[in-house]
Amino acid sequence: MNILLLGSGGREHALAWRLAQSPSCDVLWATPGNPGIARVLKDFNEKRDRSGEVGEQGICFDTELTDHERVIEFCKANSIDLVVVGPEAPLVDGLADSLRTAGIATFGPGAAAAQLEGSKGFTKDLCARAGIPTADYVRADSVSSALSFLDRFSIPVVIKADGLAAGKGVTIAMSRDEAEAAIRAAGDGPMVIEEYLEGEEASLFALVNGTRSVVLASAQDHKRVGEGDTGPNTGGMGAYSPAPVLTAELEARAMREIVEPTARAMAEAGTAFSGVLYAGLMLTADGPKLIEYNVRFGDPECEAIMPRIEGDFAALLHSVAVGGEFEAPSLSNVSTMTVIVAARGYPETPARGGAIGGLDRAEAMPGVAVFQAGTVLEGDQLVASGGRVLAVTASGRSLGEARELAYRAVDAIDFADGFHRRDIGWRELERAS
Ligand code: ATP
Repeated sequence: MNILLLGSGGREHALAWRLAQSPSCDVLWATPGNPGIARVLKDFNEKRDRSGEVGEQGICFDTELTDHERVIEFCKANSIDLVVVGPEAPLVDGLADSLRTAGIATFGPGAAAAQLEGSKGFTKDLCARAGIPTADYVRADSVSSALSFLDRFSIPVVIKADGLAAGKGVTIAMSRDEAEAAIRAAGDGPMVIEEYLEGEEASLFALVNGTRSVVLASAQDHKRVGEGDTGPNTGGMGAYSPAPVLTAELEARAMREIVEPTARAMAEAGTAFSGVLYAGLMLTADGPKLIEYNVRFGDPECEAIMPRIEGDFAALLHSVAVGGEFEAPSLSNVSTMTVIVAARGYPETPARGGAIGGLDRAEAMPGVAVFQAGTVLEGDQLVASGGRVLAVTASGRSLGEARELAYRAVDAIDFADGFHRRDIGWRELERAS
């Protein structure tokens, strides 16, 4: 199978790494790629004598993902059998629809189904229709209507701007004044006001096509930049898998009460979902409730999950893409931890250009994989080019062992302009001890 992977982050490096270990993968392409992805591609394609076609940054063809025609052209010219879409923006933009219309099997939902991530209001309405447990809510489309609805909620209350806001459109207001300020700051436009849910968060990843859905894996991440889960929100500073707090029983319940009815409702509406559905759950005293959906792998959760998946991953994604009889993959009996190494100043003003060394030392440790996110090659020197730079991932027989190894690997890396959190997994490790 010839596979084209779209994206350029740590998530896509982890996907490339896992796809390259799949028996049914023959040739692997990626765009826009990054130096880590480029190396996976070069190593993998070398045996096919195709490595020369992959540029140093992993750009095997130069195009914007918004140029659907150009992506289709590349797929046809290179007999691509499967496109795997990493990030959400091209999905919301309908790239998967364009590819499928052109007859190219694609892992990832079409634009209509991507609304599960693209519009909070859409998802809340779907939950209400299908009886899916989630926070009580109202939708508003102006400051004045939002303010008039506030009285229906107790404090704390959650204010969310609608649309893709990369985690920055959500305010948990601890007072009525704060809630009013958040509404005024959001301005006139679609908003969701919702009940505050008490509990611990966990992520459940399911593979879905139409009404068929299976569990892929669970994970937990750390969104805040600072230790002890303090400071501003980020894309994620670390993750681990599995999330023991999501017990087998709770996982089955979340599939039954949340994921499966969502898949059914989407199929009934004529907008069947296909791809990975990532449910952000709050584990409340009344059971799991849906906070949000994402329509792609989480980053850094993907980096933590990939080393646990056994079997032919490429064949599995292909089967999901074409609506085959896919089953849940078996997961290896290890715990994994991913520690993000970010550029100093992240998330506000990440320092660019810092030199990175010692990756080979870290990667030589058995059970360690270093996935690259915001990196670029300047000549032979790898330097930081974005906020989150590296996703250092380790496997162990327990989360404690994975943690130990992950930080040994982080410490082997030279990146003077970088920083990381030292307490990834603290909640679970505290519980375990
Ligand atoms: P991201 O995709 O970065 O997670 P987002 O903009 O899609 O963010 P949500 O996931 O809906 O927004 O909310 C962000 C965070 O706010 C959640 O991860 C959760 O910690 C908190 N949150 C959201 N809704 C609620 C709620 N109803 N009760 C308690 N906490 C909530």
